[in-house]
Amino acid sequence: MNIVLLGPPGAGKGTQAKRIEKALGLVQLSTGDMLRAAVAAGSEVGKKAKAVMEAGKLVSDDILIAMISDRIGEADCKNGFILDGFPRTVAQAEALDKMLGARGLKLDHVIEMQVDDAALVERISGRYSCKDCGAVYHDKTKPTKVAGKCDSCGSANMVRRPDDKADTVAARLKAYHDQTAPIIPYYRAKGALKVVDGMADMDVVTAAIAKVLGKPIAAI
Ligand code: ADP
Ligand code: ADP
Ligand code: ZN
Repeated sequence: MNIVLLGPPGAGKGTQAKRIEKALGLVQLSTGDMLRAAVAAGSEVGKKAKAVMEAGKLVSDDILIAMISDRIGEADCKNGFILDGFPRTVAQAEALDKMLGARGLKLDHVIEMQVDDAALVERISGRYSCKDCGAVYHDKTKPTKVAGKCDSCGSANMVRRPDDKADTVAARLKAYHDQTAPIIPYYRAKGALKVVDGMADMDVVTAAIAKVLGKPIAAI
């Protein structure tokens, strides 16, 4: 099963992708995580992406399309994948259709998670994650059970993203509304779009996604 999770920054894509990954044995493909790894490694892609990401703008379509095209060809994607953060432009959505078609694959579900801008700012400003396993937390809505210690792997290595600052968040929301929102009608026209209320509690969102997918998903 191949899934796209669509939604603005802070909508809960990563949180839900991790739950789907665990429940259904699919692979989460987070382009944000891939780009952050490239920045940390200092690769050519990372050098190009760093300043763009810090400014809250979108990295070029060419880089993202090449990255995903390579990644979906890897062995672990054989059972299916969850795209989290890709596509983010109509050009990326069209390129995705082509690369899937060329491999005899298709998208089974495109799920839009709707969240108000004001709630997104709250979510992003309280977000932190585990550097070792990637589990995502929030100061108010999802703190670690033991302060400073990851629920999933026990690590004490908690990090906040440099672009999760109030001034960058406005630019990221603008990029979403200007460049990413136009892919919603693109998928709606194909009859592939399902909408879930991303404002609901995390576990309620998980249940709504499980209903769309027709499979049980545990809250973690
Ligand atoms: P969020 O989880 O807040 O939605 P991501 O981790 O997905 O953010 O992305 C972080 C940043 O990485 C984006 O602001 C953008 O600069 C870059 N990025 C990630 N995915 C894409 C993409 N598909 N196209 C262009 N830029 C991207
Ligand atoms: P995205 O990947 O779309 O940027 P995340 O999954 O990283 O979003 O979630 C953004 C922040 O909001 C995180 O701190 C997360 O713990 C929190 N969060 C996610 N879903 C919900 C929800 N349904 N209600 C409240 N907070 C949430
Ligand atoms: Zn961890």
